Amino acid sequence: SNKQLDTLRQSLPSWVEASIPCSASGKVASYIPELSKAPHDALGITIIAPDGELISAGDCSQVFTLQSISKVFTLILALMDNGEEEVFKRVGMEPTGDNFNSMLKLELVRPGIPFNPFINAGAITITSLIHGRSMEEKSQRILDLFHILTSQKELSYDIDVFNSELESGDLNRSIAYFLKGNQVLIGDVDEVLDIYFKHCSILVQCADLARMGLILAFDGVDPLTGNRLLPKRYVQIAKTFMTTCGMYNASGEFAIDVGLPAKSGVSGGILSLVPGSYGIGVIGPSLNDKGNSQAGVHLLETVSKQMNWSMF
Ligand code: GLU
Repeated sequence: SNKQLDTLRQSLPSWVEASIPCSASGKVASYIPELSKAPHDALGITIIAPDGELISAGDCSQVFTLQSISKVFTLILALMDNGEEEVFKRVGMEPTGDNFNSMLKLELVRPGIPFNPFINAGAITITSLIHGRSMEEKSQRILDLFHILTSQKELSYDIDVFNSELESGDLNRSIAYFLKGNQVLIGDVDEVLDIYFKHCSILVQCADLARMGLILAFDGVDPLTGNRLLPKRYVQIAKTFMTTCGMYNASGEFAIDVGLPAKSGVSGGILSLVPGSYGIGVIGPSLNDKGNSQAGVHLLETVSKQMNWSMF
């Protein structure tokens, strides 16, 4: 409503200011060495309304890589390519309570099926299901989907982050071989990881995340054009995973404190949305011990509580 928009326009800058100090107690991710160059105390947010109005505050001009946020959309693309039945033969639907790159539960569900599509094991499996005649074509199809969803034709990869991940990605490589050994992942491990690291290293800004969030908020229809971009059922599935597993092993706490579907990435980005209303993009590179943006989570909690946005 207009009143909500007025409140957002007026209060967002001060809510950002109040959340910045939280960055101090977090750490910028360094297991991918290139990511550690991000500014520690940056914090930015963009909220987009159904008519396209952008409300931004803080460092929203930051450019950062999608990382795990890409997993929401590779899941949707894999569902569009293969259908629900095929996809859920290879990944489960349950949160793990473990770290995103944990292998702990990979043997629990026979035959070695990852618990969900957002942990690395699940996301790498999902990447292997994307259709295309070559590795280049598969990556291009993923990039094209992001071009369509963000209306940004210039979106591209951060080659330095991609290379950094390729060089430091032994844990992901071992997960992928484990999946291949159990015939969960079909195909060439290096090829699948190339595609996976590429979609993790797509460069975006808060407004891009907000745009994508808005399309999810409207069940796959872009409210700016009225065009359906994604099938409703697959958006519903993606939003459910965002709610149950989108914030790593802090998803339960986030559901209580914020109460909105969201997906975070180790770059400090968070994509969230208010169903039927708004898309939200946040960046704050300093992460808490669960791998979510420390200041970003604080900011989303403030916004959600002040605006009374929790779905629950
Ligand atoms: N590319 C990162 C990895 O596979 C993504 C992790 C994340 O953002 O959670 O380690």
